[in-house]
Order: sequence, then structure tokens, then C-alpha cells
Amino acid sequence: MWSTLKTDAIVIASEPWKEADRRYRALTPRNGKLEFVGRGARKGKAKLAAHLEPFAIVKLEIIKGARSTTVIGVERSEVFTALATAIEPRLLALAAATLIDKTVRPDLEDETLYQEFLQLLRFLNTAPVFPPTRNTFVLGGFLLRLLRHLGYDVELGACLSCKDDIRPLAFRWHEGRGGLVCTNCVLERPQEWFAARSMEEEIVTLLRFARDAQYTDLLRPSLKADHVGEFAACVHDLMRFHVPGYVNEAPFWNTTTIG
Ligand SMILES: [Zn+2]
Repeated sequence: MWSTLKTDAIVIASEPWKEADRRYRALTPRNGKLEFVGRGARKGKAKLAAHLEPFAIVKLEIIKGARSTTVIGVERSEVFTALATAIEPRLLALAAATLIDKTVRPDLEDETLYQEFLQLLRFLNTAPVFPPTRNTFVLGGFLLRLLRHLGYDVELGACLSCKDDIRPLAFRWHEGRGGLVCTNCVLERPQEWFAARSMEEEIVTLLRFARDAQYTDLLRPSLKADHVGEFAACVHDLMRFHVPGYVNEAPFWNTTTIG
């Protein structure tokens, strides 16, 4: 355990706390998700609050007391300026931050999740503005990566049951078990796989690509709105099924659509 800690961090959420303070949650490279309080962040110490705005890498110094963890120093080291000024990428980044905040526990140690989120922010900060369909595709891709960090990697290459390679037109989709099952296994054990449903090859391709490609490459493929709609519904179902903190009355793509 530590009593004071210096770390890089990206603030993912904050809210008013007691009379004059704010409470923050931030993602760090080596200490996972940290919660801390900014004393006087709502009055007087405006500089502290300004430095703890989201979408920057900050150097934090925090101290763990008997009752709460408090920030005692903060310095900005990389600011994502486009995210601070352009509404579309900002909404997408906010949606990703909120989803991390809702689904990642403070005690989960995951060094790569910080890097994953940082990659997304750097991409959004330099990418051209793209339409809602592309927004949904990119955020869906991020969620598939988030699922992997939470321990639910989707099986898109081999059959969940017999582990054989999945062949075109010979598979079904099972959201509860998180992936594809070959039709042989479904025919052999229909009771076990009764909930598996058919899925178009295009949707599998979108799921694989959204999860595995570089973010910049997610701008390349032409996207059909109805395919992305089905892709998004799949990701939503996976999140709803496997991630307790995911709020299912607001599908993730709603948060990126303006007006
Ligand atoms: Zn099989």
C-alpha cells in the first residue's frame, strides 16, 4: 500500500462532492482506476479544477488519508486540444470515458487498459469528424476491446465448443457464451445451443475488424447503416450480458448521436 503516489493519469469522471470539493475518477498506467477528492475544487482553487478537466494526461500527486484520498498536486503533460473544442469527437471520448467509469472496478489492475484508452483519445484528437454510423462503429470497436480487458474476449475465430476454425456460412452466434459456434456442434447438441442464432457473415467481419484493427483503419471500410445497426446491437447485447455496470436502458450509440 502507498500513502502518497505520483502517477500519470487521465481523468474519466468527476462530480461535486460535499460543499466545495469535487470527487474524481482517473485511469492510471500502473494503479488502475483511482478515486480521489479535489479539495476546494469548486471555489478558490480554480486552477486545480481546470487542470483536472478530462482529455489530458496529467501528472498527479495524491495522498491517502484515513478517510479519503486527496489530490495535492497536478500538472498537465499532454492536452488533447481538438477534444476540448470539437463537439463530435468530444462526445465520443466522453462516451468511452463514461463506459470505462461504469464498468471498471477501482481494484482492477490492468496496465493495458490505460494504453487502450490513450490510443483512442490520440486517434480522436487527430481524426477528421465522421458521421454517426462511423461513430457507432468506432465506439463499438472500443467496447469490444474493453470487454477483452474485463475478461470477456469475444470468440470470433474458432468454435466455442469444438475449437475448430469457423468456416463461412457454417456458424451461429451465441451472445451468452460470447462468440461463434459451428453448425456441426449445434446439430449434435441442439439443447445445449438452442439460444444460438444465425448471423450474417458481414456482421462477423465487422466485429473482427472493429476489435482487431488499428483505430485509424476503422475509417477505411465503407459501412452500411443496417449492418452497423446489427453490429451495435451485438456489442450492446454482449455488454449487457457480461458487464454488470453497463446500463442497458441507454444503448451506447445513443450517447454519440447529437440532436
Ligand atoms: Zn464446433
